[in-house]
Amino acid sequence: MLFSSPIFRMACQQFDAVADHLEIPNAERERTKLPKRLITVAVPVKMDSGMVRVYWGHRVQHHLTLGPTKGGLRYDPNVDLGEVAALAMWMSWKCALAGLPYGGAKGGIACNPRELSARELEAITRRYTSEMIPFIGPQIDVMAPDMGTNEQTMAWMMDVYSMHIGAATPSIVTGKPVGIGGSLGRKEATGRGVAYLVNRAIDILKMPAGSRVILQGFGNVGSHAAYTLAKSGARVVGISDFAGGVYNPRGIDLEAVQRHLSGHRTLEDFTGGEHLGNAELLLQECEVLIPAATERVITAENAGKIRCRVLAEAANGPTTPEADVILRQRPEIFVIPDILCNAGGVIVSYFEWVQDLQNFFWNETEIFDKLYRVLEQSFTQVLREAREKKIDHRTAALAIGIQKVVEAKRIRGIFP
Ligand code: NAD
Repeated sequence: MLFSSPIFRMACQQFDAVADHLEIPNAERERTKLPKRLITVAVPVKMDSGMVRVYWGHRVQHHLTLGPTKGGLRYDPNVDLGEVAALAMWMSWKCALAGLPYGGAKGGIACNPRELSARELEAITRRYTSEMIPFIGPQIDVMAPDMGTNEQTMAWMMDVYSMHIGAATPSIVTGKPVGIGGSLGRKEATGRGVAYLVNRAIDILKMPAGSRVILQGFGNVGSHAAYTLAKSGARVVGISDFAGGVYNPRGIDLEAVQRHLSGHRTLEDFTGGEHLGNAELLLQECEVLIPAATERVITAENAGKIRCRVLAEAANGPTTPEADVILRQRPEIFVIPDILCNAGGVIVSYFEWVQDLQNFFWNETEIFDKLYRVLEQSFTQVLREAREKKIDHRTAALAIGIQKVVEAKRIRGIFP
């Protein structure tokens, strides 16, 4: 298949298992599972050296049944159409679980943002956006930041689209700076949502205060989850980025990390703990383990060896189906599955889009009150479904999301 890849196969495997569980008729499976639109464009860019390089940019819009599609844009050297298609599929189930009127989407450009200058990043972003103009719009497909992209990326995209339309159109992207129509709280939303759900799990498991937390990935999501959990009394003992991890059983000084990262690109020379590899860090003992970087890091090799009570999946797709089989035999680990755990981002993105469309903006208290209410509802629903059907949390979360999409497609029927 055009977009086949290990990650896409993993997303399909998850869907197929849940489709069996829900007994979805065969005739409805393919059209629910497969992405509606896959777009790949060449993105030529004049580099600082004067050379011209061509990057590949992708966008996958998974389904259009319930509204526009919604999802992040990722800059990473390993991005391919299959990965983007898998992430788009997961966005569909995530939006449906949270009750948002969106289909899922995802985009990506195969580039290494750490090796590009700000000017080159701007050129890549602007050209990609202009190539995507026929396929995006506030009522068609709305992008947001993901790995390797940020508020500035969204600001450039909004500028390109607005120049094309001839009027400022903030609702074309979410996760943009507040000064051009972004929402208060969006930057912190995913990480704070992760922290909210971790604290709910800690309550339910009646764990004592002062949980030890290890995070893989200290970007937007990982850092905000860490700061929020530390504020609520947790002890962050391990963090990492693409270059490796830092571990300190007495607790890592997060303010010192922040100071370090303002002058350095990685945690490599940070002196506040012992340096460990990313794989090794995942195996250290803690109460809360938070993969907040990339896919497929909890695998058949390490799922039996992780030592935590709560596995909070802040990243998308961090756990392989083979690892899930092992985790199901470890009921002492409370899994908060990705489509629930990191939904805070898309929920506040939805609030941002609504505010932009209405030209009426909410304060931060209103945003977080609304966010926690939606997360609480999704969390309660997932736990209830798991308990009643005697299934694991991931199957429960996916089943709720997938069922909603199947029903919407059933009601609308097939055109013509
Ligand atoms: P980011 O680019 O801000 O940060 C990513 C972090 O992961 C960085 O610290 C980077 O160094 C590290 N990293 C990258 N590759 C790694 C690897 N192979 N091993 C270890 N660390 C690695 O990205 P982000 O926005 O924080 O996104 C992180 C994850 O959360 C992704 O899976 C993303 O899809 C998911 N997510 C993000 C949002 C959001 O609002 N940004 C919302 C939902 C889900």
